[in-house]
Amino acid sequence: MVEHMKWWGWGQEGVAFHHEDKPNLAPFVMKVAGIDFSAPPVRVPELSELDVPASRAPESLRAAFVEALGAEHVHDDDLDRVVHTYGKSMRDLVRIRRGDFGRLPDLVLYPGTEAETEAALRIALEADAVLIPFGGGSNIVGSLEAPREETRPVVSLDMGRMREVLSLDETAKTARIQAGALGPDLEEQLNARGWTIGHFPDSFKHSTLGGWIATRSSGMQSDRFGDIADITRAVRVVTPKGLVATAEVPVQSTGPSVREMVLGSEGRLGIITEATVQVHRLAEERVIQAYFFPDYGSGLKAMQAIAASDAQPSITRVSDANETQFTLATSKKGSAVGQLLNKGVQLYASRRKGMDLSQMCLSFIGFEGSAAGVRRSKTIVGEIVRKHGGFGVGSGPGTLYDQKKFDTPYIRDFILDRGAYGDVSETSSSWTTLKSVHDNVVAAAEKAFAEVGVKGFIFCHLSHSYHSGACQYFTFAFQAPSDHDGLEVYDTVKGAIQQAFIDNGGTLSHHHAVGREHKRWIGQDISPAGAEIVGALFAGVDPGRNLNPGAIV
Ligand code: FAD
Repeated sequence: MVEHMKWWGWGQEGVAFHHEDKPNLAPFVMKVAGIDFSAPPVRVPELSELDVPASRAPESLRAAFVEALGAEHVHDDDLDRVVHTYGKSMRDLVRIRRGDFGRLPDLVLYPGTEAETEAALRIALEADAVLIPFGGGSNIVGSLEAPREETRPVVSLDMGRMREVLSLDETAKTARIQAGALGPDLEEQLNARGWTIGHFPDSFKHSTLGGWIATRSSGMQSDRFGDIADITRAVRVVTPKGLVATAEVPVQSTGPSVREMVLGSEGRLGIITEATVQVHRLAEERVIQAYFFPDYGSGLKAMQAIAASDAQPSITRVSDANETQFTLATSKKGSAVGQLLNKGVQLYASRRKGMDLSQMCLSFIGFEGSAAGVRRSKTIVGEIVRKHGGFGVGSGPGTLYDQKKFDTPYIRDFILDRGAYGDVSETSSSWTTLKSVHDNVVAAAEKAFAEVGVKGFIFCHLSHSYHSGACQYFTFAFQAPSDHDGLEVYDTVKGAIQQAFIDNGGTLSHHHAVGREHKRWIGQDISPAGAEIVGALFAGVDPGRNLNPGAIV
């Protein structure tokens, strides 16, 4: 059986965020965004209370899928169709809780093999139905929904039955893995043999290999292992033109890369059934060190120097002052993070290092590999941190951060229950523009909050460093006004942030993809001619616009 996330929120049923053991958090969010944690939670309706439009699938289409996949793998019940309607952006969560389902899929298909996937696509094309591949449903850019006005039958094709590691080549250090494998599925199978893929997005537990490839995902340890685009060596994709299988080689000079075309294609070219990925031996040693910098600017310069050095960290991350304050506020009483700014550290930072405590920025740097390699990298990083006015506070907070990282997303549902909206936007830009992108994005969001008359806050961290620049990841939240629609405010703030990315030399997304959410910036990002070429590629492969029409361009 394929398990899904809650239809109305993030993650598993029965798991939720709570704040009672984090005494500083409620006063902090009240002060910065007027979000009242003591407000009684808004009740999430039962699905049975909402008006779920009936499936419009013609009986002949259903029968054809049943013949190809078996009756138990063709679903049309309300819950299954609702779960496959949207991803997990704030917009998706708000709409689904309101019972605003848009154009629900009429059928949900669960193929178990590549041959069944081919049969499903063939049937969909013959019937001129829309087919949308579904991985874990964790995307936050609206890349799963059918156009509202779609009159053709819509089917969601869930890859959840295809989750095996098919083979492991210990010489080439590659593994063939089915596209429906969730992060834990493939890591458990690889770990059992002493290997790891090294790809850990925050959504790791609920997203799939196929989804990572189709959105060009990036994981926390990308500094060492690369983004999914680097990790993916070869793909097998069921397309309207037939099966595409790229060669399992390290690099190819064979014209424009078909493998690269599939990366980020969001289901518009076909269904990825499996991929060959680079894997690594489990590391001998793994540690995340915490550091403080006097301010964000010096933290950024230190990350740049680390990227240019001989150190090989797995994670480079530095929070701006606002995110640092938030992280400290979320710490449990007496925890390692709570101890980060204890009296001794405060005195050391202010008296010995001359830091302004309100401007201090927290950084986590991860190291993994051989004990000797880790030691060497740590020494180099320690020197760079000192040169940039920072100091280390040990590995305890980093260990805790590592353990808790997959729990953080539950906080969005918690604040939404209290009438507050929160979401993220991320971009990459060059080291030259990084600080101005940060400052201008924060200014744009604050201006947007002021214009719509809400109290809100925005904070940011750098993660994922490269030779020429890095990713910056912004989180914003606000209390929805009582007199108008919170989604309108969300649009204004999110739109201002995205436009500021483009206007200041950033891209519309470093790793969350385009979907429908970011589509209006695609021409400004890759140029109008670039967007036309991408559109022509999709039209060439899928002239009937049957595959996830409406995503990207
Ligand atoms: P889905 O959401 O199911 O689908 C996404 C797109 O891929 C759709 O267009 C779909 O049609 C297509 N697709 C899915 N499977 C296939 C397939 N087999 N063949 C063809 N097309 C397919 N992203 C990151 O990169 N890094 C992060 O750290 C990260 N953290 C997140 C944290 C939270 C709380 C949330 C909500 C999201 C986060 N994301 C992150 C975004 C999201 O998890 C990624 O975009 C992820 O790659 C989506 O994978 P999925 O399997 O859930 O795909």
